[in-house]
Amino acid sequence: GATIGILGGGQLGRMLAMAAAKLGYRTIILDPAENSPAAQVANAFIHAPYHDASALRRLCAQCDVITYEFENVPVSTAATLSEQLSVFPPPEALETAQDRLAEKIFLNAAGISTAPFVSVDSDEDLARGLEGFSGSGVLKTRRLGYDGKGQRVFRDATAADCEGVFAEMGGVPLILEALIPFQQEISVIAARSVDGHIATYEPAHNEHRDGILHRSTVPAEIAPQTRAAATQAATDILTSLQYVGVLGVEFFVLDNGKVLVNEIAPRVHNSGHWTEAACTVSQFEQHIRAVAGLPLGDPRHHSDCVMENLIGDEVLRATQLLAEPDLMLHLYGKTDIRPGRKMGHFTRLTGS
Ligand code: ATP
Ligand code: MG
Ligand code: MG
Repeated sequence: GATIGILGGGQLGRMLAMAAAKLGYRTIILDPAENSPAAQVANAFIHAPYHDASALRRLCAQCDVITYEFENVPVSTAATLSEQLSVFPPPEALETAQDRLAEKIFLNAAGISTAPFVSVDSDEDLARGLEGFSGSGVLKTRRLGYDGKGQRVFRDATAADCEGVFAEMGGVPLILEALIPFQQEISVIAARSVDGHIATYEPAHNEHRDGILHRSTVPAEIAPQTRAAATQAATDILTSLQYVGVLGVEFFVLDNGKVLVNEIAPRVHNSGHWTEAACTVSQFEQHIRAVAGLPLGDPRHHSDCVMENLIGDEVLRATQLLAEPDLMLHLYGKTDIRPGRKMGHFTRLTGS
């Protein structure tokens, strides 16, 4: 069987490695951290920085295809590897998704609506931007944010509220988005194969707590036109990027049922974990199928469901959860419990 190299050894890499093994593939994981969740399940684990030349040589020598579980893998690493091997999703998709400004410019150019935004590189840019958005907005670092980190919300702000903010945010490039009064948040997990076929999963309704995904409910209670628009946007994004693999697309649903894309993730996505319990082919298997050049699986779900993350000491509920019927528990094998750390998740099937 072939060998799949995975950049990133977190829980997503772990679940990709499990899905790859199920289809008979070997996996080699590269991650700078020791004790990565994926190290327990991959066939081989390289513990080195992402730009480490000997690690990349080893991946090139031993793998047939490279993928990643983490959108902040250096683009230069993906590009270097792609000189010798197929790297899926394409490095261009990685580059676009790493920068919230580039991402929104790409989406708008593809005809997909987002929150209005301005680029911010000073307190003055921020003040001018907030004035344009009537004093309300969400300021975000362009790069490296996750779980709501590197963000600040403004309401009824004036120029005085902007003083020193650029430095407080780290003096890095920022983006200001209009504060969207969304009715709910949904996401679509979608996949595109090497030969251009596309499969989209049912939209999930997502609820966050302290900036971290708490719960995904499937199906989302949305109008048919909203469902169609979100699914079409995900499809258009995959096609525009000539994408191969699974992509997560987060949306805001407005009161009028229209959708705005919040952000895209060029990888399997936390709000798609329910697919392992409610679909014949999970998002993880779908991703492996896509990058390995296999046909995609049927994305339809056989059961409605609710997925919840186990964050920090919520993982102590595990034993109790195991006693419930129609519940699939998934733990990531992380030994130290820390606040805000994703330790596992469960999916409760709720009928069909
Ligand atoms: P993730 O962990 O999903 O990668 P992230 O750190 O990249 O999160 P975003 O998805 O951009 O952050 O924002 C986190 C949450 O903050 C959103 O899910 C939404 O609830 C809220 N939010 C973000 N941008 C806006 C906006 N422009 N208007 C209103 N709410 C917003
Ligand atoms: Mg994000
Ligand atoms: Mg997000």
